[in-house]
Amino acid sequence: MNQSVEQLRIRLACAFRWAARLNLHESIANHFSVAVSGDGREFLINPYGKHFSQIRAGDLLLVNADDPASLDRPDAPDITAWALHSALHRNQPHARCILHTHSKYATALACLADSRLPPIEQNCMRFFERVVIDEGFDGMGLGDEAERVSRLLGNKPILLMGNHGVLVAAPTIAQAFDDLYYFERACETYITALSTGRELRIASDEIARKTCRQWLEYPGFADKHFNALMGILDEEEPEYRQMNPLATAYTANL
Ligand SMILES: [Zn+2]
Repeated sequence: MNQSVEQLRIRLACAFRWAARLNLHESIANHFSVAVSGDGREFLINPYGKHFSQIRAGDLLLVNADDPASLDRPDAPDITAWALHSALHRNQPHARCILHTHSKYATALACLADSRLPPIEQNCMRFFERVVIDEGFDGMGLGDEAERVSRLLGNKPILLMGNHGVLVAAPTIAQAFDDLYYFERACETYITALSTGRELRIASDEIARKTCRQWLEYPGFADKHFNALMGILDEEEPEYRQMNPLATAYTANL
């Protein structure tokens, strides 16, 4: 990992604030995390009760996937957040950044009996054959359920959680946020097209695969997108970068 923990804090705070701006969040639920250790077991996550729109770099908690004592503090992460992200960082160490939301259109897709996203336009094609659909929802993400969900992802970037929401995993915060943004856009287009009741214009698998490959080969897109989002926050709400003394103490112990 070539970004400092301080940089990861700032970038994850930016992802939270933009998720709120884009209405991808749901109240004070939902959670984002980023690994800071090589094995992924030390990671940053949002504290329970803090609204996404007000999160600062220093508010993010440094926790350990193997240590339930991570929850033994007044601003501990939500218990389902800790269980789910701990299991994911432990079982999928390549997934450095994990974003989980109940965003409107991805969740609508997760509520359909057939949750597949057909290749009807470019954004949908970006995710062609890159989505795992979880059809085994078994209550809130605690204990065995967190462990079960964490093993489904494999090397795919998107886990569409049936009866629940969406989870994105990527090697960087910028890539994860870009995937979350575009997956929600793709779902919005699909659900809107479905709502007309008219026949869909579904592209062939071959064209969907080619377009997906073109997305993946597009140079530097996610980083440029994320840098543009940071630039807007730097102008309009630069306090997202603030580190508090607690955060400084934690980073110093790494
Ligand atoms: Zn959830």
